[in-house]
Amino acid sequence: MRCNPASDISCGDREAQQENRDESRERRRLYKRNYMRRWRESPSHRAEDRESRQRAYYAQKALRAQRYPDPYTNLRGERVCGYCGNRPAIEDVFRLQICEHAPDGYIEVLIPYCGQC
Ligand SMILES: [Zn+2]
Repeated sequence: MRCNPASDISCGDREAQQENRDESRERRRLYKRNYMRRWRESPSHRAEDRESRQRAYYAQKALRAQRYPDPYTNLRGERVCGYCGNRPAIEDVFRLQICEHAPDGYIEVLIPYCGQC
C-alpha cells in the first residue's frame, strides 16, 4: 500500500523504520543507564562527582554575591523585606545572628522588614 506516491515509501516501511528507531533508542537508553550505574559504583567517581558539584555550587554562590551585594534588594535594586523578599521594607528590625567570634555567640543585625510577615 502506497501512502504518499511522491516519497515512494509505503506505510508499512515507515512503521518498520519507526519500530527500528524505537528499538535502537531503547537499547541506547538501557546501555547509558547501565553505564552510569557502573560509573557511579566506583567510590572515586562518586567523590569526583561530589567535588565537581561543590565547585559549581560555590561558583554560583560567588557569582550571586558579586551580582547582588545587598541581599535585601530585588532585581530592580529596590530595598525589600528580609523575610518575605517581596514587599518593600518600611523599617529595620534588630535580630540576633549566630556568630562564633562574638563573646555571647550572637551579634545583633539590622534586617529590613515590611511589617506584615
Ligand atoms: Zn515581609
